[in-house]
Order: sequence, then structure tokens, then C-alpha cells
Amino acid sequence: MPLHKGLVKPLGRPVSRAPEGRFHPVSAEFSTEAVDGRVVASRGMATGRILLVEDEPDIAEILQYNLEKEGFAVEVESRGDAALERIRAAVPDLLILDLMLPGLDGLELARLLQRDRRTASLPLIMLTARGDEVDRIVGLELGADDYVSKPFSPREVVLRVKAVLRRASHEPPPGDELRIGSLHLDVAGHLLWIDGRGVDLTATEFRLLRLLMERAGRVQTRGQLLSDVWGYAEDVDSRTVDTHVRRLRRKLGPEADRIETVIGVGYRLRT
Ligand code: CA
Repeated sequence: MPLHKGLVKPLGRPVSRAPEGRFHPVSAEFSTEAVDGRVVASRGMATGRILLVEDEPDIAEILQYNLEKEGFAVEVESRGDAALERIRAAVPDLLILDLMLPGLDGLELARLLQRDRRTASLPLIMLTARGDEVDRIVGLELGADDYVSKPFSPREVVLRVKAVLRRASHEPPPGDELRIGSLHLDVAGHLLWIDGRGVDLTATEFRLLRLLMERAGRVQTRGQLLSDVWGYAEDVDSRTVDTHVRRLRRKLGPEADRIETVIGVGYRLRT
């Protein structure tokens, strides 16, 4: 059964410890090799705290058993509202979420988690009813890293869990923090530090710097910056960009010349 190509969202807190096996990325085809990979990987026990939100006791039990066998610490919650409280009290390393739940349904729970900075990047696998394309799409839009359609084999879920955790541990968190030279941009906290010193930026300056840092080394035209930072159409006066870059440079102090002018084109942040 081919795996759906899951959307990759920025993943926050690093979750290491998933063992190195020959797991295929989530987007790859499910294959014999991936199944063999489980054997290879099971030499080292996986660790990590998983919260499983599922109101069908049989499913919860078999998943818990199989995940614990692999070394994961698994907590089970049967209600959506109770799960939300539990997550807010202690964010797990990964969440497996059924959609049809008493108290608060899975999609609504995912929506609330995504709105909260502390949980927005929580690795999430959704359990969906077979063939429910709408749930699947909405789920992926709400930041699910992958989904598994019921009925599923526990082994399939274990493989997905390991793949998602592995991906989370190997990917830098692009949405959280950017560091170039002595610039340190805490994206979630909306703060800039230069050599450990806090610098106040306006919202626009922050967006501009973030974009330049995310695209460091690549020239950004004034039109691109206007459209991506200001959300303007490209025919708006591009001197707006120059003015803001000038102000931003002043605030960057010793790092001012990191923003290079590319004559006749735009700007580039030197890496
Ligand atoms: Ca259910």
C-alpha cells in the first residue's frame, strides 16, 4: 500500500533517539526493505514519550503494546479534551491522534495545538477512517506529519512513528531559530539577539530580517521582498524596501554589512 506523501511542517523541539535503521522517509513507498528496516532498527530500543489519543480500547491496547515493545513510553487518553489538558501539562515527543473522539474531536484538538506556540511543532500522526480524504487533507493542513488509515497493522504505525521521529530529529527547526554569524533570531519568541544582546525590531523589520536569513546567500529582488514581507503587489514603490533595509542595517550594528546590496536587483544576506 503506497504511503501518502505527507506534508512536512517545521518541526520544533528536537527529538532524537529514534534508532538509525533503513527506514524510508514517510513519503517513500512502503516496501519490503522498510519492513526489514524494522528488524535492523530493533537492535537498539527506541525511546520517546508518545501520547496516544484513541477511544476504542482494543485499538489503543494493541498500539500501546506494540509501541512499548519497541521501547517507547506510551500514555493513552480516550477523550479529546482530557488529551489537550495532558499535552499542555507536559508536551510529549509525539502524538498519535484519532479523529472521532468524545469531548473534543481530533481535528479541533489539532487546530488548538497548532495555534499554541509550545505545541505547534509537536510531531503528529493522525488515525483516520479509511478513504476519508477530507479528514486526511484537513489533518495535513493542520500540521499532521503523517496519517494512518483504519484498519491498519500495528507494525505500520510503529514504522510511521519511527519515521516521523527520525525526521524530526534530523531536520533543523526552520520555524524556531535562525543563527547566522552573531545574529540569532528567535522566531517563535519574536526576538533578535546580536552577540547575546537583545535588539528591538518592528514587526516589519523582523519579517524582513527573517526572510533574508531564511534565504541567506540568495539574492532577493525588491519585488520579492515587497510581496513576501509587505504582501504588496510589485508595482508599489520599491523605495519602501530600501528605507526599511537602511533602518534594519542601523539596528544590526556590527552585523550591518551582512545585508549586501546587489546593485540593480535587490538584497542578499551574506552567510
Ligand atoms: Ca474514535
